[in-house]
Amino acid sequence: MFALNIKTWKLLPSTVPCFSNRSSEQFFTVNDSRFAELVNAWLDKGLVREWKGTVGELHNGGEFLPFLPSPPRYIATNGMRFLADSLLSETHLVNVERLCWISKLEPFNGMWHLSENGKPCGKFDAIVVAHNGKCANRLLMTSGLPLIAKQMKRLELSSIWALLAAFEDPLPFPGNTEVPFEGAFVRGIDSVSWMANNTKKLLASQSDGPNCWTFLSTAAYGKQNKVPQENIPTATATRVKEGMLEGVEAALGLSKGSLPKPFYTKLQLWGAALPTNTPGVPCIFDPFGRAGICGDWLLDSNIEAAVLSGIALANHVYYIQSPGADPGEFAVGLNHEFQPPEGHDIGQFQKIHVIRCQGNYPESNISGLNSREYLT
Ligand SMILES: Cc1cc2nc3c(=O)[nH]c(=O)nc-3n(C[C@H](O)[C@H](O)[C@H](O)COP(=O)(O)OP(=O)(O)OC[C@H]3O[C@@H](n4cnc5c(N)ncnc54)[C@H](O)[C@@H]3O)c2cc1C
Repeated sequence: MFALNIKTWKLLPSTVPCFSNRSSEQFFTVNDSRFAELVNAWLDKGLVREWKGTVGELHNGGEFLPFLPSPPRYIATNGMRFLADSLLSETHLVNVERLCWISKLEPFNGMWHLSENGKPCGKFDAIVVAHNGKCANRLLMTSGLPLIAKQMKRLELSSIWALLAAFEDPLPFPGNTEVPFEGAFVRGIDSVSWMANNTKKLLASQSDGPNCWTFLSTAAYGKQNKVPQENIPTATATRVKEGMLEGVEAALGLSKGSLPKPFYTKLQLWGAALPTNTPGVPCIFDPFGRAGICGDWLLDSNIEAAVLSGIALANHVYYIQSPGADPGEFAVGLNHEFQPPEGHDIGQFQKIHVIRCQGNYPESNISGLNSREYLT
């Protein structure tokens, strides 16, 4: 959530919109020229780099189909939080209030009064809701913004489990070979949709030491095992961890019980993970309430969409103040219908091509990850 005064942008709480310090985002792709311009500047500063490791599809039983290296995949060199902090340090117009959780929005005398459990957090000209889920719905319910609240309430989100696991040795692969990829979208396994070797991806030069992996569940598995994310029962955590590790074993084509035990694990549930419906607009803005919503879920479900949404809403808030501007012309997304998004359980990425090994694969007519060309 963030709120704005005309001359300075105040961000609440400890996040730059569009980025968060978390282990979920695996890589991002670039499609739009405005995002490309930003990413090129980040590349020049060393804030992001291309991830050249092999990525592809891993089918149940250990069959791996690599993607072509193009389009390029990017990762934040020192993590997304560092990238966000670097962006902030470039401007003096943005003032971030860290560790501030807004629980009430109240319009008063043409200004928005924000508070955290009764503690005032300032008065602002405009507000932007840059998160979603139950908390955003609660916040908007009493805000006097019926159109914005209605749109937010229509959003439905999937749940995804993320398991970080560290192994003493490289994971085995059938035929006594090395695992042939650094990242893979997993097909045909209920409990796992993505796996990546973080050690190889982030510390390519490290030849010894632990092997750290990220495993993400499918949305279906997240739904089957949904619990309150702040209070995960131990029995659920144990069952999910075992279920996901069994899924990894099956995906790699290893015999039952042969996946080595990790010496460290961390399990997390993204209760409000990715959108299962979207209005397909860059942002939502109520010019009369001076309130808007931005977020990846309005367009796609990836970092690029989050950035473009933030830019779109910033433009609306900025241009509505132009002399002679007709506020009505700045209304956007207030009545858009929601449709199911295209793509994958962990988001949509630019069209990715799979190298065909053998056989004929039908071409899908869905865009994003599923719209791939198979090359011989
Ligand atoms: C499991 C998973 C895997 C993903 N993998 C990828 C990937 O590989 N590549 C990719 O491009 N994208 C991926 N995504 C999508 C990516 O995470 C999102 O596109 C991106 O984080 C959206 O950014 P955002 O700023 O819109 O929202 P968020 O990052 O969700 O930020 C919302 C912020 O609002 C804050 N907030 C919430 N409530 C309040 C309140 N009441 N007051 C104040 N602040 C509040 C939250 O703390 C949070 O920091 C993944 C998502 C998930 C869940």
